[in-house]
Amino acid sequence: MYLTVHAAAGAAVGQFMPNVWAAFAAGFVSHFILDMIPHGDENIQHWKFFRTKLRRTIAAALIDFAVLLATFCYWLTTNTVEQIPGIMYGAAGSILPDALWGLHELTGSPLLKWYRALHSATHRVIAKKLTILQGFAIQIPLLLALTYIIVAY
Ligand SMILES: [Zn+2]
Repeated sequence: MYLTVHAAAGAAVGQFMPNVWAAFAAGFVSHFILDMIPHGDENIQHWKFFRTKLRRTIAAALIDFAVLLATFCYWLTTNTVEQIPGIMYGAAGSILPDALWGLHELTGSPLLKWYRALHSATHRVIAKKLTILQGFAIQIPLLLALTYIIVAY
């Protein structure tokens, strides 16, 4: 799932947590729950616009990060000062699993091999493959619903 949606889930649960480390842990766990929902990102690898898998991944991550930053600023400006730490730590925890995954892809480190297997396994819990558009049809409403929770509570 896109980092923007992961961060929204982390922020949504993080804002209710009693302390920042609980928010961080809740965000971290939320990542794996969301990744179990089929979300279509894998098909970015068939994106014709870029020649290599690495370029496609970096391009998608940069666009995702720009959207994440814009939505994150919106979440921060629509909440009370007391909720901001939980939102920030929840979002940070929710992004860490994909950062670790990316680190494994870049380094091939044997230290992260078990982690990569775990992260990939969450994507196979529901073995339905979606197109990028079908993925958007799931992720955009989910992002809007999570944003509603972040802004309204
Ligand atoms: Zn992930």
